[in-house]
Amino acid sequence: MHKILWKFVQLAKKEIIQNDFECIFSPHKKIMYGDGTMAEGFLDVQKKLLKCASKAEKWGEIFLHEYNHFIQYLLKTPHWKKYMNYPKDDFFFDWILGKKYNEQTLSKTHELVRNVELECERMTVQMIKKNGLPINLEQYIKTAAAYVYFYNFARKYRVWYKPECPPNKSKNIMALMPKTLNGSFTKMPHKILKAYESYYLNDDRRIYGRKR
Ligand SMILES: [Zn+2]
Repeated sequence: MHKILWKFVQLAKKEIIQNDFECIFSPHKKIMYGDGTMAEGFLDVQKKLLKCASKAEKWGEIFLHEYNHFIQYLLKTPHWKKYMNYPKDDFFFDWILGKKYNEQTLSKTHELVRNVELECERMTVQMIKKNGLPINLEQYIKTAAAYVYFYNFARKYRVWYKPECPPNKSKNIMALMPKTLNGSFTKMPHKILKAYESYYLNDDRRIYGRKR
């Protein structure tokens, strides 16, 4: 592993622990989140835990993403505050799993969760730049954009992706991604929506979905 990144991760870990959180690197490709779904990393503010799968292919990037969620929490950033002040923060995923909510609640929670992820990704990009971290920035930005856009796709089709099929696995999606995260990501351009539709039309690539 690159020395600069290693040093940076050690410092970040120290800061996390100093704030009474646990910071665990689990030697697996995937780890289990509280609700039973698999992930490569997560931050749980109730349990005060940041956990990463240290054998995930891009675990450094996963860690940076979760670490920035931690910083959002610590600094109470504008989008984090809005997200946390909403009565229940996992509405959106509950809905994907089959729970019923009214349109207004759903639209609000979808917007809040997408914005908190976009804010986190913008912060992560700044962190990579500022610290000269050895990460391919153009690739990172496009992967982040593909992830944020997925929230709009998920809202339209009520699906999530299988952990082995994140949107950045699709060359067609990646080719259409912006080079910056300056956009608001509130709307999905037609071409981009089509690329997601053709990639996730395949049942093997998506999970959950409406109970039929
Ligand atoms: Zn996130």
